Amino acid sequence: MKTVVHTVGQEARQTKGWWGANRWLVLRRVSQFSILALFLAGPWFGWWLVKGNLNYSLTLNTVPLADPLVMLQSLLARHVPERNAIIGVSLVLLFYMLVGGRSFCAWVCPVNIVTDCASAMRRKLDIRGGGDMPRQTRYWILALILVLAASTGSIVWELVNPVSLLPRGLLFGMGAGWLLIAAIFLFDLFVMKRAWCSHLCPVGAFYSTLGKWSLVRVAAIKREACNDCLDCYAVCPEQQVIRMPLKGAAKGSSPVILSPNCTNCGRCIDVCSKDVFAFGTRFAPKPSASPGANLPPQ
Ligand code: SF4
Ligand code: SF4
Repeated sequence: MKTVVHTVGQEARQTKGWWGANRWLVLRRVSQFSILALFLAGPWFGWWLVKGNLNYSLTLNTVPLADPLVMLQSLLARHVPERNAIIGVSLVLLFYMLVGGRSFCAWVCPVNIVTDCASAMRRKLDIRGGGDMPRQTRYWILALILVLAASTGSIVWELVNPVSLLPRGLLFGMGAGWLLIAAIFLFDLFVMKRAWCSHLCPVGAFYSTLGKWSLVRVAAIKREACNDCLDCYAVCPEQQVIRMPLKGAAKGSSPVILSPNCTNCGRCIDVCSKDVFAFGTRFAPKPSASPGANLPPQ
């Protein structure tokens, strides 16, 4: 007898079409590549819409944007920030604290493209199991880089931070930086599922902390329609955040994914054939009742 192999997102593609099953993924890639292109357009083609990089940039010679984690390390290292850097950090802080939450990871960060590729290939090659470590590790690494900045008087982390190293490397040459990016890719692919973004990266940990109370959230608005296909768990980089909003109706839990670890990537919305998930705000619609609570393992 012929066995039917279920591939992740297959049902969604059949019911919603290719665009419906990949919309948020495509929009994220457009966002990530556009931001990279804006940084590269000046040095490569002389189109200076944006000057700078992910650490500090000036758009149209007017609007500064600056990385708050770099600023925090800089302050701990006892550097005095310039006026434009303070304005730039304030704008970025306001956006992620009030609106975007951890969306930097899914919509801006270039390393996310690399780790998403590793994750997709892992599913394709059906690589299962592998290493494990607490997801809290990233918060310890975050604390460590802050202590390092304070104790050494310099922003040591930026020497090896792959998030700023990747766009900088595309401009000035990656050198040994490719080894670091390749190591992240291979580690995620062969050793441990979503090791870098969901367990180790202090930048993601920082944005999670920053966006704890942010407005934009994904919610399991039609959770009663869930057929337990588990596709959303397969694609979510932080699958632990889905469980209670999706299956906690019996316990009266909110369908809104309030965990600060959700990256607002919207991939769960894409791959669900039942359109269970949707973007909304943190102010929940009334919890819907759900038959049974067939909770998948954490
Ligand atoms: S919400 Fe339910 S139906 Fe939708 S992808 Fe997740 S497990 Fe499948
Ligand atoms: S819950 Fe959905 S939006 Fe949030 S990280 Fe997971 S897949 Fe992305």
